[in-house]
Amino acid sequence: MMPKPRTPFIAGNWKMNLNLGQAHGLAAAVVRSSGGYGGAEVVLIPPFTSLDEVRRVIDGTPVKLGGQNCHWEDKGAFTGEVSASMLKEAGCRYVVIGHSERRQYFGEIDASVNKKLRAALKHGLTPIFCLGETLDERDKGQTEARVTSQLAGGLEGLTDEEFSQIVIAYEPVWAIGTGKSATPGQAEEVHALIRDKLAKKYGNGLAAYAILLYGGSAKPDNAFSLTQEKNIDGFLVGGASLEADSFISIIKEANNAQKVKK
Ligand code: PEP
Repeated sequence: MMPKPRTPFIAGNWKMNLNLGQAHGLAAAVVRSSGGYGGAEVVLIPPFTSLDEVRRVIDGTPVKLGGQNCHWEDKGAFTGEVSASMLKEAGCRYVVIGHSERRQYFGEIDASVNKKLRAALKHGLTPIFCLGETLDERDKGQTEARVTSQLAGGLEGLTDEEFSQIVIAYEPVWAIGTGKSATPGQAEEVHALIRDKLAKKYGNGLAAYAILLYGGSAKPDNAFSLTQEKNIDGFLVGGASLEADSFISIIKEANNAQKVKK
């Protein structure tokens, strides 16, 4: 399969928020505005228990569905886990893998990220593969080393074809949920580094097509300046995806910035 050309990509990670009624209402509001999303890929990522509710709201619209995590096995005695094939059956097109909250609180490591990426791809899900440094790592000048090792560990052994199906989200841990976003310059520096590493591993052609998202306190007032950067293709949004107005504004700002990209 040929990689898709880079278009703005905005995914809302609802984390462990919103009840069924709220999930329905937010999805419906996002759908109502979808006529104005242009070529942007818009993805809603609710908790597992709301997937079906959201699927019914977005069915037949351009808005896509994603899961927040999956196990690497197809099935079995893994209490509390959900497999990639289950997400696929639930209507998901995407799945978040290696989110920093999974790494921080649930023991996610590069080796499990790699297995989960493989499981997602095997079942036709597009992984949104997350990586990023902590504040301590940034302060010690270890950002490049950290991002490089997460990239290498997560993508280990994946073929060109498999890699071409993956979306990557650079999410500096210090910016997630803190209200303190990376500046466009800080984010672009790491995105450029990631694209460069990808070019060395998979060649310039595939690297140029890779969708690279930024995540970490993205909001309407920084979406334009971040998306204007050459290597930033959109956002994985947490907090600001829980309100229709702010999420929809981010989509529109990203679309506008795409037209005047550096
Ligand atoms: C996230 O959860 O991936 C995220 C980027 O959160 P926030 O936008 O709230 O920082």
